[in-house]
Amino acid sequence: MKAQPDLTQVEKDKLEIDPDFDFREIARRPFEAITPNELAMFKWSGVYHQLQPSFFMIRVVTPGGRMTTRQFNRAVDLAEKYAQNELCITTRQTLQFHWIRKEDIYKIIEGMAEVGITTKNGCGDVPRNIIGDSLAGAGPVQVGDSLKLIRMMADDDEIQNQRNLPRKHKISVASSNDAFAQTLMNCQGWVPVERDGVVGWKFHAGGGLGARPYLAKVVFDWVPEELVLDVTRAAVEAFRRHGNRRQRAHARLKVVVDTMGARKFGELLIDIMKEKGIEGLDRIEFAQSDVPTIGRMYLNGQEVVPQRQPGRSIVRIMIPRSELKTADSRTIANLADELGGGVIMFTNRQNIELHDVPEGNVEAMLGALHQAGFRTDGHEHLPDIVACVGTTMCKMAVSDSPDAYRRLYDALAHDEVYWKSVGTLRINITGCPNNCGQAWVSDIGLRGTRTRNPEGGSTEGYSIFVGGKLSEAGKIAEYLCDVPNDEVVPAVKKVLDTYLAHRESQAERFVDFCERIGVAKFQQLVSK
Ligand code: SF4
Repeated sequence: MKAQPDLTQVEKDKLEIDPDFDFREIARRPFEAITPNELAMFKWSGVYHQLQPSFFMIRVVTPGGRMTTRQFNRAVDLAEKYAQNELCITTRQTLQFHWIRKEDIYKIIEGMAEVGITTKNGCGDVPRNIIGDSLAGAGPVQVGDSLKLIRMMADDDEIQNQRNLPRKHKISVASSNDAFAQTLMNCQGWVPVERDGVVGWKFHAGGGLGARPYLAKVVFDWVPEELVLDVTRAAVEAFRRHGNRRQRAHARLKVVVDTMGARKFGELLIDIMKEKGIEGLDRIEFAQSDVPTIGRMYLNGQEVVPQRQPGRSIVRIMIPRSELKTADSRTIANLADELGGGVIMFTNRQNIELHDVPEGNVEAMLGALHQAGFRTDGHEHLPDIVACVGTTMCKMAVSDSPDAYRRLYDALAHDEVYWKSVGTLRINITGCPNNCGQAWVSDIGLRGTRTRNPEGGSTEGYSIFVGGKLSEAGKIAEYLCDVPNDEVVPAVKKVLDTYLAHRESQAERFVDFCERIGVAKFQQLVSK
């Protein structure tokens, strides 16, 4: 199809280039014979050209963050052969391979397809991997069967074949109203509600981070479960029709919902469903208020979480910097098979949970994990830091966020007395304003900056933000101060020490402290 001349290059590419590449043919083609436009469209197959010319990142799709050990072991086999013995867990609960040569792309794609894992829609202007909460199906508080809905959405052609959206589209489905599933930062956020023993779903829309963050609004208070798929499809279609295709920075659903307001957006979805002849729409209830009321996350550092299924537990493993060496991955897979339920769950803080561990095996599982060098403490606390890939692999990065991670981790995450005294805390580091590292919604967010030097060149540093959260109505973190790169560790330590010195009591969490004193007062205190 010939594209209209006034469209942006990406929009032309989406019309003119078939995103389903034959990567066997690409393997034979010289790198120079691949056009930049084709390279950009590789993303639709989960293939992303790295900063380093002719090396690629491949992202698979794991709806709800769940993999069997058979699937995980296949990823490990492939990483051993083609990805420098390493896998990386993403904040959207899936796996990435890095350092893939062009000749090997198809081997990863075909190898994962053999165990039922696709890379289709791993990146690009498409519906992305559908996330949920890692406790889904097993956690002690389960209101709705989120995994069932996630599977339905992931298998739905009408949703998954929307491959020419104005930009990426992100969906989250939670299993309870507790803030595990990042509902408020997704384009669509589904949360279960129970009334008189019947489960329906609350629908939020319009969340998204990036350079300009938005928190989702409540659109419908109640959608009967049998209409959830129709509403999801309608929201994707509404985005296709109304997303801004002339300016990519404004192309997300968050802008559509913010411009229209939640009520009008809801009416638009109803109209789209009427066009399609969907019945029973009068059973959908519009939101009384568009302000979300997400619960606080009840997890606070537990290494083991008793499941709702009697006699079974979830064992939580910390994966520093989300980097999984293949030898360590094999250990985890073997333990999941021998002592657990053969299931690996990836979390949105880039860690791993092993589900269905029989109570009698928990001690042995923890012992084996610790002996193999894994850490199971520190979740939801200072050691649980998230960082994007930064200048190590990303073309857009202005800072080396993994390096900032390592320095913070090394300086603060081993002092158990200190980090336990700080209590619940999430630090997120992002290498540029795009905010893949989710700094906007963390207790302490670090965002890479570059400051021009008068004598030429620029200096790497970080802007520090505080007080972000995805619970209750949500809050975007507020700017506190700028620091040069080599002062990141003392600056974060000072922020934490200030909190420790001025909090009302041990029960006052960092995020509540930020809210109580306000950012202006916090700035005053840290500048002393
Ligand atoms: Fe790259 Fe920026 Fe995203 Fe980090 S936040 S991965 S540097 S685009």
